Amino acid sequence: MSATAIEILPVPSSSVSEIPSLVAGLRASFESGKTRPLSWRRAQLEALLRLVEENDDALVAALQADLGKPELEARAADIGQVTIEAKLALKNLKKWTRAEGAGTVPLMGKSFVVREPLGVVLIIAPWNYPIGLLLSPLVGAIAAGNAVVLKPSEVTAHTSAILAQLIPDYLDSEAIALVEGGVPETTALLEQRFDHIMYTGNGSVAKVIMEAAAKHLTPITLELGGKSPCIVDKTADLRVAARRIAWGKFMNAGQTCIAPDYILVEESVEEDLIAELEKSVKSFYSGEPRDNPDYTRIVNSRHHERISRLMEGQEIAFGGATRIEDCYIEPTVLRNVSPDSPIMQSEIFGPVLPVLRVKDVDEAIRFVNQGEKPLALYLFSADAAAEERVLSLTSSGGVTINGTIMHIANAKMPFGGVGPSGMGAYHGRHSFETFSHRKAVLRRGFRFDIKMMYPPYTEWRTKMAKKML
Ligand code: NAD
Repeated sequence: MSATAIEILPVPSSSVSEIPSLVAGLRASFESGKTRPLSWRRAQLEALLRLVEENDDALVAALQADLGKPELEARAADIGQVTIEAKLALKNLKKWTRAEGAGTVPLMGKSFVVREPLGVVLIIAPWNYPIGLLLSPLVGAIAAGNAVVLKPSEVTAHTSAILAQLIPDYLDSEAIALVEGGVPETTALLEQRFDHIMYTGNGSVAKVIMEAAAKHLTPITLELGGKSPCIVDKTADLRVAARRIAWGKFMNAGQTCIAPDYILVEESVEEDLIAELEKSVKSFYSGEPRDNPDYTRIVNSRHHERISRLMEGQEIAFGGATRIEDCYIEPTVLRNVSPDSPIMQSEIFGPVLPVLRVKDVDEAIRFVNQGEKPLALYLFSADAAAEERVLSLTSSGGVTINGTIMHIANAKMPFGGVGPSGMGAYHGRHSFETFSHRKAVLRRGFRFDIKMMYPPYTEWRTKMAKKML
């Protein structure tokens, strides 16, 4: 990797006492109308693009310091999200913001829908893709013409620090601010009135966010997680399936919201699938994965301990090595996992993949439906009828058939959860819509004024109204 473009300086947490005046300042800017013109939105999106392009080495360095992310994953899966979203928004801004005709109501006038910005919005991001998950929602918020408070995760401190340095250097500080810090700062932010809150993270904190938002009747978007299942039936090409599952699971060391959490495999192909998974892992991370720069670390010792504990007492098919000093956990596959074991009770969010045996796809569907609606679901099958049953009988935020992760990559598709895996969606135009209000407007003329709709409601007028409806 080339040298970092700028030095990462320790930036102190934003002061809690300054938060009310910061938000008031952003509101004053919004109310001044400065964020509404397309020229402002375009200038901010171009500046955001410059921010990531001119500082990409420093951003990669921060991600490596926080998570040991391989350069390719840092660029393609984290920083790259921002570039793709910003370019798409710049290309489509005019189209997205155009008033949308909604037909003419006879004798009443012309109807149309206009998109207006919501006001001051708060974006709270987690640590696993700490740049993409903070700045790609920002694209939608800017495109829609809002003032924005960004709250990066304190867990990835280097990334938070560099973003705190860069945001005011590139973006309009009167309308876009970044607040660093953890629970006290987020709590202070949540006491303020926002016009929308977008939170990405775990379900427990989502309840805190929802409760705080309820006090101001603030609408929210929740991008959460859960146990995303991966079903493999006997018709699947096991070699390709194993490669795609291992890639989706062990990328970012399993710390991906839509990583396959566990496998439900038809019993006749279980052992072959495990053997193929092992081959894939060996070919991805030749030698020892712990010495391989293509393999990410666990974010901190708390998560390292949590994941290590989940492996206790399980039958390891391969992998299983851990090392606390540098938060390393080897890519691991477990077999004969009981559905009642602790590892099957909550999202694993680490490089450990339990394999559970099922009789057939219908049993897999029943298993999935016993749990909460997941953020993603994966099916590997060449059987069209099985695909149809899985799609129609299960509910999840999104699906990739015969692959993992990839449905997130098409910015034209909405990305979000359902039920406990989230509410609302974003990416591309969907982000713009998330941060916009769709205002219904009817424009009438003065020429026709239908008297029969006014009182007094004579018998004749009532009869006529009845006939017309
Ligand atoms: P995290 O610990 O960084 O928390 C996320 C944010 O919440 C941070 O900004 C943090 O400061 C704030 N926060 C934490 N505790 C808080 C509290 N008590 N009150 C107010 N704010 C608080 O990240 P995490 O939650 O560990 O992230 C991992 C989870 O996020 C996983 O469940 C994963 O599936 C989910 N996730 C979802 C998506 C998605 O797009 N749906 C993407 C990434 C991660």
